[in-house]
Amino acid sequence: MSLTAQDVSENTGFRPILVTEEEKQRTDNEAARLIEGLEELVKKNPKRGGVREFSNSVLGSDIVVHSWRFNEWDYSSNKVVLPTYARGLFTSGNKIICRGYEKFYNLNEFQGMNEDVVAESTIGPYTVTVKSNGCIIFMSGLSDGNLVVCSKHSTGMRTDVQKNHALVAEQALERQLEQKGLSKKDLAKVLYELDCTAVAEFCDDSFEEHVLEYKGEKAGLYLHGLNTNTVQFKTYPIEDVNKFGDLFGFKPTNFIRFNTFEETANYFKSISETGSFEGEQVEGFVVRCFKKDKGQDFFFKYKFEEPYLLYRELREVTKQLIKKGTQNINFGKHKLICMDYLKFIMPILHDNKEIQDQYLNNQNVIELRKMYFKAKGRSDLETIDHELSMSSLEEEMRSLNFGTTQPNRYVLVTVSTIGCGKTTTSKILTSLFPDLIGHIQNDNIRRPVGDKLISGALEILVDKPVVIVDKNNHQFRERRWLFNEFSHLNELIPSSKLKFICLNFLQSPPKMDQRLWKLTSSRITKRGDNHQTIKASRDGSVKIKKIMGGFVSRFQMVNPHKEPDSNFNLIIDLKVDTENSSLENAKRIVSQLQSFAQDLHIKTPTDEQFNLAFQKALEYKPPETKIVSKPRICHPLYFGIRISDSKALFNQLNTLAETNPECFSSFLKLSAAGRLLSKLHVTMIHVGSRKGNNNNKKLWNKYNKKIFKTDLEKIGAKNDLKNGTSFDLPSGASADIRLEKLCSSNDLCCIKVEILKLYWHEGDPLDLKLGNAFPHITLGTRSSDIKPFKSNSLLESVYEFGETSGIETFDFKNSEENIIRQLPIAAYY
Ligand code: GDP
Ligand code: MG
Repeated sequence: MSLTAQDVSENTGFRPILVTEEEKQRTDNEAARLIEGLEELVKKNPKRGGVREFSNSVLGSDIVVHSWRFNEWDYSSNKVVLPTYARGLFTSGNKIICRGYEKFYNLNEFQGMNEDVVAESTIGPYTVTVKSNGCIIFMSGLSDGNLVVCSKHSTGMRTDVQKNHALVAEQALERQLEQKGLSKKDLAKVLYELDCTAVAEFCDDSFEEHVLEYKGEKAGLYLHGLNTNTVQFKTYPIEDVNKFGDLFGFKPTNFIRFNTFEETANYFKSISETGSFEGEQVEGFVVRCFKKDKGQDFFFKYKFEEPYLLYRELREVTKQLIKKGTQNINFGKHKLICMDYLKFIMPILHDNKEIQDQYLNNQNVIELRKMYFKAKGRSDLETIDHELSMSSLEEEMRSLNFGTTQPNRYVLVTVSTIGCGKTTTSKILTSLFPDLIGHIQNDNIRRPVGDKLISGALEILVDKPVVIVDKNNHQFRERRWLFNEFSHLNELIPSSKLKFICLNFLQSPPKMDQRLWKLTSSRITKRGDNHQTIKASRDGSVKIKKIMGGFVSRFQMVNPHKEPDSNFNLIIDLKVDTENSSLENAKRIVSQLQSFAQDLHIKTPTDEQFNLAFQKALEYKPPETKIVSKPRICHPLYFGIRISDSKALFNQLNTLAETNPECFSSFLKLSAAGRLLSKLHVTMIHVGSRKGNNNNKKLWNKYNKKIFKTDLEKIGAKNDLKNGTSFDLPSGASADIRLEKLCSSNDLCCIKVEILKLYWHEGDPLDLKLGNAFPHITLGTRSSDIKPFKSNSLLESVYEFGETSGIETFDFKNSEENIIRQLPIAAYY
């Protein structure tokens, strides 16, 4: 006999949420619409507001379920509206199978979660439930009677993961049900009838350790929620969850309840000293309450900072020790305790590959930590209180070579608008500390900047420990780009040795700051033409103010609590409000570096030295006038074999014309009209030839992206690619050609050539086809309306159709004198 929802209710007092047929119809429709929307969304770019889908079949069933996963950051974005905020969502057909909680946050995690905001927008009762610490598991019943068990985003068998949380949890579930004399089918049936998802935390150190200890009796599945499988978030009261859980052998979720937010907040304050609930250590709580306006279920978290922060740091430094050795460990807030702890565990880990591997696999983490505190004879929280008294450790650890082989490297990143004195301040610093501090200016780099700014900065860091990256970096996007570039391009410096320091020129949003605007704009006016790109005489003050205003209005203040700015190891606040602000700022930076970067042993310059450096910096003129060209077309218009000595060819033709005037009359006419081209080439492929021609499309890509890619990059890096310019390929790719037939019509005159050989500089053959059927040199056209590519149709009529009327031809003898060798291949822009 199997269990029904009614049995559950009768045996335990569990109160099922009943729905009317009508309501069911409505929620089913909502679900179907949501799933349709998700299917559409999955086709779009997943970067912003997108969704990723993952499908797998349920263990022991043919039913396929789809899991939907959004970007973590989109949940809290106020730019993106997600179709659902369910964290953990599994569907099958047009039905929701598993529904997680609505995404919820820590109290005070961001503006919208501040205590007063939450207090204002929610109503009680506030049910404070103990947060279990493991991995989340969803369970639900299927129409075929099977149970589906999912981890956050996956279910069923998988070959692509090392650990399958869903499978291991399912085994634990089987064991627990067995003890109650029940089966997975029983649970499946009841959940299916209730049309809800059971949400539990799987905590078992033998599988995976988290922060708290779950061993022996404590290990298992802690049921903490029952959610209806609806688009709208609806969840059972915790008492019902526990009653339900008890019947199926789940571990309970302890809780305490308050009527008001104030009582709840007071409760947290009162227990933050011990960080425990009824004598048990807990990481934090999940509070369930209701939205004031609609009465909807609303959750938030409250977590104890310590000792969990310390625990995490201990775990991270241990992993770093195992992976990278003693010298490259990145310490956090609890540097001293971590050092002391490392000293303690090093002999244990030393030469013990097995325990090292286990640790990296999140095993023995808690054991080692406990051993340490036991040996200390102090609890974790007591140790934190004592941390300051451990300062002698640092010296000792240095002598043990902790983090000392590689010196630190410091990247000073300016965050500013135009005219705040970035360059001036940088110049003061580099002239005071020429051996220590280098400077790279974005404004000195030819566009496109590409990776030149950051690779240039890294190059400076090879010789000097400090580099200033002088750029406005006025938006999050730019700062994020900068951090990413460093992590991509840096190959030499261990990441723990690379420290980012923000030179934060603006302390308040510049938009309303009239004084700042006056100061910077008058400075820029005074600077005149002394700048790489902004030239007062050329651009005029209106345009310059527009450029400056653009930076001001786009400016995003540094926010140390959020990515990307949270990556700064230090933020130095600067001021731009006095006549000598750059001098003041340089002094401020020196003194901050002295305390933050003690390994640099920076001396304090005298006032005289500072003043001198300041005067020199004010007189600074940028090294070159950088040409701001229109955005460059990086790909040429065509590739061609350049006739390097066109004069010689014309001489040869003139000689032939003398003896064969009947074939050369058109040529002579063009010559007399001054319509012969001075520069000659054989087109190999033209960008326009791709149109409607797939082969040429591929061939064009082969030229540009494969064969001559490096050539084009080199050309682009060094040259101004204006229209009408051409450059021989730096690789020295060359061609030998033979003059075959002179063909002239009334309109134009050209020579069909034969390509004898294409080869690299060293003579290795160049395997490349041409994009046109009749390679030729156009010698000239009758008027500028007649474009040289008309040669193609002329040659086609001669060669394909044997056309002769109105066409002069002359066949060159097949001999050495009509062969031209070693002609350069060039890119024509
Ligand atoms: P950036 O755009 O932030 O790099 O600003 P610059 O360093 O180029 O400074 C803009 C102009 O203001 C330049 O002409 C500087 O010489 C001048 N300037 C910079 N700092 C000071 C300062 O402290 N006092 C004075 N009087 N002029 C300054
Ligand atoms: Mg500048």
